[in-house]
Amino acid sequence: MKEFPQSDALQRLPEQFFAKLVNKVIKVKQQHDDVINLGQGNPDQPTPKPIVDQLKKAADNPLYHKYPPFAGYPFLKKAVADYYKKEYNVDVDPTTEVAVLAGAKTGLVEISQCLLNTGDTVLVPDPGYPDYWSGIALAGANMYEMPLREEHNFHPNFQEISQSTWDDAKLMFLNYPNNPTGAVATPELFEQAIQLGDQHDVCIVHDFAYGAIGFDGEKPLSFLQMPGAKNVGVEMLTLSKTYNMAGWRVGFVVGNRSVIKAIELMQDHYYCSLFGGIQEAAAFALQSDQSSVNQLVEMYESRRAALVEAAHQIGWNVNAPKGSFFAWFPVPEGYTSESFADLLLEKARVVVAPGIGFGKHGEGYVRIGLLSEEAVLREAMQRIGSLQVFSPLGK
Ligand code: PLP
Repeated sequence: MKEFPQSDALQRLPEQFFAKLVNKVIKVKQQHDDVINLGQGNPDQPTPKPIVDQLKKAADNPLYHKYPPFAGYPFLKKAVADYYKKEYNVDVDPTTEVAVLAGAKTGLVEISQCLLNTGDTVLVPDPGYPDYWSGIALAGANMYEMPLREEHNFHPNFQEISQSTWDDAKLMFLNYPNNPTGAVATPELFEQAIQLGDQHDVCIVHDFAYGAIGFDGEKPLSFLQMPGAKNVGVEMLTLSKTYNMAGWRVGFVVGNRSVIKAIELMQDHYYCSLFGGIQEAAAFALQSDQSSVNQLVEMYESRRAALVEAAHQIGWNVNAPKGSFFAWFPVPEGYTSESFADLLLEKARVVVAPGIGFGKHGEGYVRIGLLSEEAVLREAMQRIGSLQVFSPLGK
């Protein structure tokens, strides 16, 4: 059979680092049935029942058996605008400032294709969510990695970026609560980004995938709460984490009109929006009383406490994440993030994600998901403790 060559754009796509990890895990699983997987980011709880029930009802509606409007039903965009008003006191025009996405991932890749030309520069957080890289590669643009360092609260230090990089930059990705570090944003961080975006004509994309998940009573900041945010950027929202709807594929991009217009133009050529029943259930989720979200955050918070306590008990000197459902723990001396993750897989049969998979400044850390029951998290820490790689606390 003929082998057709892939386009240059496809060949530019970065290697999927985590595909390698998945293969290693499969091999170990073939020999052991007690592997604990804390390496992935898939919510473990089901979608709240009232949302599922709404979809079931909506599936009977013959209107939804037809093609939906290209850009999604207006009622869903209105639900997004109402959500921003209720949750963040932000005014959003549903007709011009909201685009419906098949998950935030789609928008995060599309936005680079919508706004970038070959050779443009994009500022990305390092460590960061690898899907940002994919859109940038498809667009033939260049990445400038902004290091997120622990001593700087895992925020980029914008002072480190040179004038010539700012001149070439067209786009900047930010993400708080942050995957993988669990850090949260401050008003000052967003204010600086808005000021610099305005000064250098850089579009700011704030990935708010974990927007609902903040700990210690702190509600994570929406980028759109900051004055001037819509002038320079957009926020990506998803139902995947907030309502355990990762499999439903519903997300939104909200904010700057010209960006919304570009994304909708692109989508007109690719898709015909989402199944109407899913749109109705998504609107229902956004408009409901959010008690399920509060319960979910409480659950993650008590898992966080269990994990951090168990880590301290084995002498692992870690800090608790402030948001998201990830913990970002330092690897002990003498290991790289990958060699430590390999050790945990082979000797403790615990899967963690090596930090290097999120960028070179992810080296020295592993990412642990809070997506298993407390007992499982404790068991994982005990197994890791039995490897005796940490000196007990205080020594
Ligand atoms: N952004 C971040 C930081 C994520 O971690 C994820 C999913 O893991 C996404 C976006 C993608 O969300 P969605 O399920 O809406 O595509």
